[in-house]
Amino acid sequence: MIPIKNDEEVGRIREANRIVAMVLHTLKDEVKAGVSTWELDRIAAEIIRGEGAKPAFLGYQIPGLPPFPAAICASMNDTIVHGIPRKGDVLRDGDIIGVDVGTVKNGCYGDGAWTYVVGGVPDETIRLLEVTLASLLCGIAQAVAGNRVGDISAAIGAHIRKNGYHAADSLTGHGVGFALHEEPMVPNVGRKGLGARLRAGMTLAIEPMVNVGTSRVKEVGWEFKTADGSLSAHFEHSILIRDGEPEILTKTG
Ligand code: MG
Repeated sequence: MIPIKNDEEVGRIREANRIVAMVLHTLKDEVKAGVSTWELDRIAAEIIRGEGAKPAFLGYQIPGLPPFPAAICASMNDTIVHGIPRKGDVLRDGDIIGVDVGTVKNGCYGDGAWTYVVGGVPDETIRLLEVTLASLLCGIAQAVAGNRVGDISAAIGAHIRKNGYHAADSLTGHGVGFALHEEPMVPNVGRKGLGARLRAGMTLAIEPMVNVGTSRVKEVGWEFKTADGSLSAHFEHSILIRDGEPEILTKTG
């Protein structure tokens, strides 16, 4: 069952996501050459706790891996998602870094991600980021009551494919709100008209993960990397389904 949230619950989910957006907005100015991903994690954790929330990723458990050790995921260059922040991972001019932020406050969860560039990057890298963000917006445009999950997935996948890139295999968006991950799965490829019907009051995290060279992924502990070492970008918004245009809960301003 896909949970439908009432107004009071939406209010709490909105608040958790407001904090996610605040972190992602603040990090825009903190991402620069010489800064470690560990330092970005420290800044994010401080903001989250300062807002009376907790980092939702810290201590997150999946079978077979140690609990996730940080507040954010920091995924550089060929790392698609779930990168672990480290003191030794220092940003350099020309890098890209995807930051994924999860929060929990008053029992409700927020989730969002942004990919930043460090200094100057080639035009082709800018294009990857633009296409990935645009594919997210294509998906959001389909996220209206009465449509189906497959309408979101098809719109994202078509935009990625049309631009010559690849949606990362097996990694999907998801419902979010009462848990960090809840039903439904929201794939980044799919077919129009298939999947669960969207209803007002559903809250979804939509998150295209887009690779330059291949859809294939390679898992290294927590981290998902592109199988061919090519770059990967990731943007994620949590949204509220309504009749008509969805509300983006993680707008960074
Ligand atoms: Mg997510």
